[in-house]
Amino acid sequence: MKIHEYQAKELFAKYGIPVEKHALCHTADGALAAYRRMGLPKAVIKAQVLTGGRGKAGGVKLAVNPEEVHHYAKVMLSTSIKGLPVTKVLLSEAVAIASEYYLSFTVDRNTRSVVLIMSNSGGIDIEEVARNTPEKITRFSIDPFIGIPDYLARRFAFVYFDRIELAGPMSRIIQSLYKLFMESDASLAEINPLVLTAEEQLVAVDAKMLFDDNALYRQSNIHTLFEPTAEEKIETSAKEKGFSYIHMDGEIGCMVNGAGLAMATMDMIKLYGVTPANFLDIGGSSNPAKVIEAMKILLHDEQVKVVLINIFGGITRCDDVAMGLLEAFEKMDTDIPIIVRLTGTNEQRGRELLRTSTRFHVAETMNEATSWAVKSLKNKSI
Ligand code: GDP
Ligand code: MN
Repeated sequence: MKIHEYQAKELFAKYGIPVEKHALCHTADGALAAYRRMGLPKAVIKAQVLTGGRGKAGGVKLAVNPEEVHHYAKVMLSTSIKGLPVTKVLLSEAVAIASEYYLSFTVDRNTRSVVLIMSNSGGIDIEEVARNTPEKITRFSIDPFIGIPDYLARRFAFVYFDRIELAGPMSRIIQSLYKLFMESDASLAEINPLVLTAEEQLVAVDAKMLFDDNALYRQSNIHTLFEPTAEEKIETSAKEKGFSYIHMDGEIGCMVNGAGLAMATMDMIKLYGVTPANFLDIGGSSNPAKVIEAMKILLHDEQVKVVLINIFGGITRCDDVAMGLLEAFEKMDTDIPIIVRLTGTNEQRGRELLRTSTRFHVAETMNEATSWAVKSLKNKSI
């Protein structure tokens, strides 16, 4: 589960991690009022969307007067950042940055431990730093039985700060972030950048936290912070109808039965160099009403340009599935290309039935079905 920067900063503040003054705003007028109330000279307006890289996408702006505050808040609140509509902005005190550090805790599966990751090249280009100059990134595995006592915290802090005036506060931030990470069942607690200001203060200018979904049952305070995205809402409603549905970024909608076959279908599409639009597992039913529901979910996503139906008939027979599809598509009004591959019990009969309609492209193998889906995506005839 993800939370917003402003929510993560509330947690930081509770754990004594220094954050700059800030206020959450829903309107440009609200941002202006908060700016005046806080008596700030310069402010940073930041889009509160559940994605990173906002700075590069225009979601972080420095405003030096009331007009700019109002203007940037207004512009941001009427746009989307990486496809996510901005409904809230964070107005925060602009700090004078002397240098930017990176600091995070996450779970490292290789060492089977929590790992502390630090760098003195923090900021918006941290991914490039990790790729091109990995030596600028320091990692320490944390022994869960030892945790981070004072001596270790100082040792970590001294990697980047040689004066105790700075190493002291840094070691306390490291300890507090670790405590927050552990106590909240987080899978990531990240400060990027952790800023050293011109006044030699360390401040968490950004805050990112992810939590282990499987621990939410015992983290009710965290769980209440959950704000589903439009896609997550669809996933939840699909679940209520008995489907497993996961949204992805591509253009081929997939209707499949069984998670294993769904995975194999995704892999096959990827093998053709294309990305699936989703993963929709309709389970073991051929009921036309269910097929209609599933198609509605698929077509709700405007990205979907082609639908690939890949069904393995075991107890559910392929001819029943074919009947279900025929009946469902009589009632559906869509001209999207539909490619169907049925295999298993009564597959021959299933294909014959489907071929009575011009609505379907009936493939025999998974390879054929996927190649057709990719072809029709590229507007080539099958
Ligand atoms: P992200 O791009 O989503 O990670 O958003 P951040 O909150 O990390 O902001 C991106 C960048 O904007 C930071 O790395 C800083 O360089 C800059 N920035 C953010 N807040 C301030 C601020 O108060 N003062 C100054 N000078 N720069 C800031
Ligand atoms: Mn950041």
